Parts: sequence; C-alpha cells; structure tokens
Amino acid sequence: MKFAENSNQAADYLRRAIPLMVRYNIPPNPLNYALWYTYVSDRMPELNSVLDKTVNTYGTCPVMVSEQLFREHMIKDELESAKDIQSNLISLMNDLHDHAHETAKRTCDYSEVLQDSLSALSDGEYSELPLESIIQNLALNTEAISATTRQFQTRIDEAQAEIATLKAELQRTRQDARVDPLTGLFNRRVFDSELQQLISSPDSVNTTIVLLDIDFFKNFNDQYGHLMGDKVLQYVGKLLKENSAEPILSVRFGGEEFAILLPGSTLEDGARLAESLRDKIQAIRIKLKKSGEVISSITASFGVTQYRSRESADDFVGRADSALYLAKSQGRNQVQCADESTPAI
Ligand code: GH3
Ligand code: MG
Ligand code: MG
Repeated sequence: MKFAENSNQAADYLRRAIPLMVRYNIPPNPLNYALWYTYVSDRMPELNSVLDKTVNTYGTCPVMVSEQLFREHMIKDELESAKDIQSNLISLMNDLHDHAHETAKRTCDYSEVLQDSLSALSDGEYSELPLESIIQNLALNTEAISATTRQFQTRIDEAQAEIATLKAELQRTRQDARVDPLTGLFNRRVFDSELQQLISSPDSVNTTIVLLDIDFFKNFNDQYGHLMGDKVLQYVGKLLKENSAEPILSVRFGGEEFAILLPGSTLEDGARLAESLRDKIQAIRIKLKKSGEVISSITASFGVTQYRSRESADDFVGRADSALYLAKSQGRNQVQCADESTPAI
C-alpha cells in the first residue's frame, strides 16, 4: 500500500479522518489511522463499505475487525510475498527431485557395470575380456559415478543454503507481534487494547472476563516433558478457539494462562462458558506412544468477573485474578465467580 498524496491533500484527509475516529471511538493508533485515512480518501470503495457496515452494527470498529481489514486491504501485497516463498520452495524441491532421480538412475547403471565386471572376473580364464579392459571399464565408470554423486552433493549443499534463506524470510513475514506462535491465539496485547476499548464504550457494564490457568502445569512438564506440555497448551488453545465465536475473544495471556473477553455478556454467560471449558479440559486424554500410558490428569481453574462501572481495566482483571486464586486455593479444577466482596489483586 502506497500513499502518494501531497502534504495539503494529506492534511485534508487528517482533518476528516480524526473526527470520524473520535465519533466512532476508534483508538488513534497507526493501524486505525491508516484505515480511516484511506476511508476518507475514498480510494478503496470495498473497504469503505465494510467500515460503514461495521460502524452501523457496532457503533465502533472492534479491534479484531480493524486488524483484519488492515491485513486484507492495506498490507495485501506484503502477505503475497509469503506465497512467493512457497512457490520458490516448490521449484527448489522439484529441482532436487530431478537431481535425485538422475543420480539414482546412474547409480543403477553403475551397479550393472559392477555386476558385469564381477561375472567377467568369476569366469576367470574363460572370460572373453582381458583383465586390463575389465579394470579400465571399472575405472571409467567409477570416475563417472563419483562425478555424478559429487554434483548431487553440491546441489544438496546449495539447496540447504536456499532453504535456510527461505526459512528466515518466512519467519520475518510471519512475525506478528499480536499472535502467540505456539497456540495461534491472539496475545495479551490484543486483549488489553480490546478491553480498553470496550470499557470506554457506553455499554461497558455488559463485559465479562474469564481467566483460565492450567493446574499443576509445572509438575506436568516435569513428568512428561516440555514438548508434551506445549502440545497441551496447543490443544487448550484449540478448544478455546472452537468455543469462542465472535465477538468473544480468547487469548493466551502468558505461560499456561489464557483469558477470554466476552463483550455484551453477563457473569452468568461467562460462568457457563468457563464451566463448559473446564469440563472439556478435564476430558482430555493423551495416549503416550512409548509406554501406552493414558494421561487423564489435565485440569484447569477459572476466575470469572463482570465489569463494574467506571473501574479501571487493572481492577477488572485483578478481580478475575482473585477469583482464579480462590479457585486454586479451594482445590483447583473449578470455576469461581467474583462477588461483591472479592477485592481486586
Ligand atoms: P498452579 O496449579 O498453581 O497453577 O500450578 P502450576 O504448576 O501450573 O503453576 P506455576 O506458576 O508454578 O508453573 C507454571 C508452569 O507453566 C511452569 C512453566 O514451566 C510452565 N509453562 C509456562 N509456559 C510454558 C510453555 O510455553 N510451554 C510449556 N511446556 N510449559 C510452560
Ligand atoms: Mg500460572
Ligand atoms: Mg498453573
């Protein structure tokens, strides 16, 4: 996406974009500004029509929608480069495949030469070929096959270097400061900014959060290894994704903690979702390939709370944390809701 306006034109867009962002309660960060700047410039009618529909529905543009629009409309070209990497990789593999095929064919021919020489030698004095010519033939073919395998080795070395470059490129394009790479869920930064936006809207009291922390996860890692621990985190992430349809937002809060933000929901809605996730997590069964042992001990504790008018995001999250702490101290594998007396941590 390129912006080629002169400074007068850009200043005009600025004057028109900012009041719109204020009216729709859009945080004035660079991502949103790029979207609304483009909106007032009228250069992408499809983007304008999605933004119009979104603000008509929500009265604002939720963070997740903004990010998606940014990806789809503003940095589409950059995302295309990931596709280029994929096609480079495919042609590299095709090339390697051809080399491997050719080398295999020549190795097969060489094997036949060896076989023929062996038969000629075992025929001894009855052989029609003199010993020198058998040796000469072997030497020539051995030189040819070593040249072929040397070439193949060189091609493999080159391919290794190319793969390393492609891998680094892919990592650069995939690096996304908002997504947790292990689970694919959004991270805490997204949660914080979405929460901030929700609690500054007029309907903020109907916002509920659920905090989830896996029980005795340190013991799990110690007993089954960190890699198995990672698999559990991925699986829990998948469960959360499957059970939080729009507008619910699930994120990896950090370590073995996850958070769920439920806009337009009450404490009861949050408790119901938490209870169903608790049940699904305790039903997880993992069969270990080596020993055949079935792990059935994965559980999680939950803290749920609903927003109280005018409190800060820290107090809100702190109260969910207190409820979670209560769930831990009362025996784990349970859901606790914060009530009037629950203090924020
Ligand atoms: P509690 O029931 O009180 O929550 O106990 P716990 O062991 O789950 O809590 P603690 O805070 O003592 O330990 C958290 C563990 O989570 C320790 C850490 O190794 C593990 N952990 C955090 N992030 C990851 C990760 O990305 N992968 C794996 N495998 N383990 C992680
Ligand atoms: Mg923890
Ligand atoms: Mg834990």
